[in-house]
Amino acid sequence: MLNFTADILPARVRFGWGMDEAIAEEAERLGLKRLIVLSTRGRANDACGVAEALRARAAGTFHGAEMHTPVKVTLAAVSDAEALGADGLVTFRGGSATGLGKAIALRTGLPQISVPTTYAGSEATPILGQTEGGRKSTLRDPKVLPKVIDYDVARTMTLPVELTVTSGLNAVAHAVEALYAKDANPISEMMASAGLKAMIPALRTLAKNPSHRDARADALFGAWMCGGVLGQVGMALHHKICHTLGGLFDLDHAKTHGVVLPHATAYNAAAAGDALAPLEALIGGPAGLALHDLGVELGAPTALRDLGMPESGISEAVDNAMLNPYWNPKPQERDAIQSLVRSAWEGSPPTSAVE
Ligand code: NAD
Repeated sequence: MLNFTADILPARVRFGWGMDEAIAEEAERLGLKRLIVLSTRGRANDACGVAEALRARAAGTFHGAEMHTPVKVTLAAVSDAEALGADGLVTFRGGSATGLGKAIALRTGLPQISVPTTYAGSEATPILGQTEGGRKSTLRDPKVLPKVIDYDVARTMTLPVELTVTSGLNAVAHAVEALYAKDANPISEMMASAGLKAMIPALRTLAKNPSHRDARADALFGAWMCGGVLGQVGMALHHKICHTLGGLFDLDHAKTHGVVLPHATAYNAAAAGDALAPLEALIGGPAGLALHDLGVELGAPTALRDLGMPESGISEAVDNAMLNPYWNPKPQERDAIQSLVRSAWEGSPPTSAVE
């Protein structure tokens, strides 16, 4: 007998190839006349392209978005938005720009149009992670959810292979933890499975041929599904470890997910039971080892030490990850988590002892 609670988030999505017109149409539909375009540093020219798409509705640009949404950057952007008299936000590029838009929306209530070009999936969640004083804290608030998402496959064609792969594995991580989430429901299971089914074959194609348009479309669709479940159900130990590492050592968000996921999955696999079947149908089993092999096949980093994490940080990371732990299918034991983080730091395949 089915028995569940599902929290389905409102989402208006425009999906296709060459979606600039849709950005202008959505701004008009929302009655916005002075939008500020937010992006990461170094991609200024592209952000100007989005501002051009908005035509007279563009009030200006802010190019300072940074990974992990530092509060000091948000405050600078809020002040720019106020000085420009902005009545809305367009977030362009990856999760860093999306995070900045959410952080501004939280403080000002400004509506957002999201134009994501990575597979992080933040645009589909009411979650905001912010960093201050070396600690990343996460909140959920419907106020930060974009009003509309403009998924433009054409704008993802420039995503370099390395970012494509690591960002795609970030999306896979959302779906994997959604499969065994405490509050999983038939809709989240469908979305997580659909996300994995679209994303994993697309990554295999894009790792060899990043210009493959259909694979780009599949990956972007997969990113929406995987982000959608991240917003819908609770995440577990894997996300907790990644958030902790990101906050403590300022590690690259997507790469960290790709490195930790095989180890966290191996830790949880036995307790998750059949929940991981949709993943194993795509990559084989056992799931943790198969994810490790997938990362190697795609050329993704496999060791936290290669991302800049010091060996001396392992114990601190474990202590922090065990503070206010998220629900997890398997009880969280300090020694076992210490060896999980050590294997991820070394880059060794997850051992069958924790599988
Ligand atoms: P990112 O946004 O920092 O982008 C990485 C780099 O890729 C940047 O230099 C960016 O300019 C570049 N880039 C993006 N799209 C490109 C394209 N099409 N062509 C060329 N270059 C491109 O990285 P990310 O992994 O997308 O996002 C990470 C951030 O997102 C972290 O802060 C993380 O915490 C957050 N995040 C939040 C959620 C959530 O639900 N709140 C979910 C996932 C990630």
